[in-house]
Amino acid sequence: MNASEAVSLYPVIAIDGGAGTGKTTSAALVAARLGFCYVDSGALYRAIAVALGEESESHAAAHALAATPAFAAAIEAIPLRLEPAADRFHILLQGRDLGAELRTPEVSRRASQLAVHGAVRARVGRLLREAARIGPLVVEGRDIGTVVFPQATLKVFLIARVAERARRRRLDLLRQGIDQSEEQVARDLEERDRRDSTRADAPLREAEEALCLDTGTCTVEAQVEEILRAFHQAAGIRAAAPPQGQGHVDEDRDGRAAPGEEG
Ligand code: C5P
Repeated sequence: MNASEAVSLYPVIAIDGGAGTGKTTSAALVAARLGFCYVDSGALYRAIAVALGEESESHAAAHALAATPAFAAAIEAIPLRLEPAADRFHILLQGRDLGAELRTPEVSRRASQLAVHGAVRARVGRLLREAARIGPLVVEGRDIGTVVFPQATLKVFLIARVAERARRRRLDLLRQGIDQSEEQVARDLEERDRRDSTRADAPLREAEEALCLDTGTCTVEAQVEEILRAFHQAAGIRAAAPPQGQGHVDEDRDGRAAPGEEG
């Protein structure tokens, strides 16, 4: 381990899965039960999409442009930070909590287009690792157990049938006043899943040692209990025999130490 690496001593529970698999519900409840902070990594990708606005369309479309230093500099310059509260990290863009603005179908699509780019993933990964230095976390996303926190205490992978996911996501959108057919919602979910699973950088996939739960076939209470049981078991095993080098490396993909800008 070199001097630029820092280790977080706090536990992390990584909850990954495709769009609409129920990650937010499970992650927030598990965090509340354990008194951990909850972080929604997808909201960071969404906030970057909002920050870049219309521009993100052209960046995503013109892949070559997105590989330029100017694009990386633009991503680094976004005034995005994670602010700890009692139960969760708030995601602030220019000091503002974006709320429902992050949840439109348009922002979902643009976030997934931007998430293929290394510069975007590096920024989000750094924000998350900074957060893990503050206290215990439950983090939801796509690559949390595979890439961001490969040493997470527990890795969970959620799945559900597309029809079930589209039904839930449609209800979420309706609550925001957005009325889309279940077919349209299902098409959007599948397109995002396809892009998220086939990208070269940190694709959506189940970590080998993950606890896999089908959220379409068990109740939310049962999911939460199962995750808590697995966490206590994993934490107990670690306490008995902490593996060498356990913890989270707080460094960039290219090995640079993360500046203390965020978190
Ligand atoms: O989880 P959510 O649907 O809000 O994520 C929005 C998009 O952000 C995803 O479709 C995916 O492209 C991207 N994402 C990611 N890695 C994560 C979390 C989200 O690539 N850890």
